[in-house]
Amino acid sequence: MSEAFAAGDRVLLVDRKDRRYLVTLVAGGEFHSHTGVIDHDDLIGAPDGSRLHSSRGGSFVAFRPTLADFVLKMPRGAQVIYPKDLGTILMLADIRPGVRVLESGVGSGALSMTLLRAGAQVTGYEIRQDFAERARQNVEAMLGSEPLDRYEVEIRDAYEGIDETELDGVLLDLPEPWQVVSHAARALRRGGTILAYTPSIVQAATFRESLGEHGFAYSETLEVMHRSWHIEGTAVRPAHRMVGHTGFLSHARLLGT
Ligand code: SAH
Repeated sequence: MSEAFAAGDRVLLVDRKDRRYLVTLVAGGEFHSHTGVIDHDDLIGAPDGSRLHSSRGGSFVAFRPTLADFVLKMPRGAQVIYPKDLGTILMLADIRPGVRVLESGVGSGALSMTLLRAGAQVTGYEIRQDFAERARQNVEAMLGSEPLDRYEVEIRDAYEGIDETELDGVLLDLPEPWQVVSHAARALRRGGTILAYTPSIVQAATFRESLGEHGFAYSETLEVMHRSWHIEGTAVRPAHRMVGHTGFLSHARLLGT
């Protein structure tokens, strides 16, 4: 499963202080840090987890980035959904190989790559051409070209309607998800899942109200609290810092009227 690093691969360089840098390997390339230079050629052909030193003695470990590493480090235009929420979305929407989902907006592609890696067939609606292109580049950088034939991004406004039918899921990360609920009710199969990620609880409440009016049931709104712990000898306590808020997840299933 784990192959040696090759030119074109993304590699995560982690220094002694756990600072992380995402680097794309290029033959003859150089990575410049505050402790000097690392030649990409020293990494090309090296195995995952290799330890190496920069020209002025900095110590680094080179890892193949996980999906979570990549999401937090990749080039972004729009704000991404955090890994803690991405993992939960896979469960709530029961994403598995072969499911057909509509995703809108597509933004930087963090949710897209998560869905694609779990085997879904994804149609994205995104109003901004530049974001759509960036998302596609990010997906290919993380997953390679294999999933690109399961990934279609259209430049269009999800508030104006959805062409697809018999979808298994409609996943929304845009400012007014309630404007998509009536379209989703026509685009989903019976039993299909709708889910909206919203930073504000007022958005979640407005979305929930609309779900009730369009034949959705079993709705739930939740937030994912991720608090890590500091464990070092007898100092065992919650970490001082945490990401206190990202967004609310509201989901429901289509029953029809
Ligand atoms: N979930 C994405 C981030 C989405 S950011 C990720 O994980 O990377 C929100 C995106 O919604 C932006 O790219 C914005 O351009 C897009 N958007 C906003 N309104 C929209 C609409 N009505 N139809 C389609 N896309 C929309």
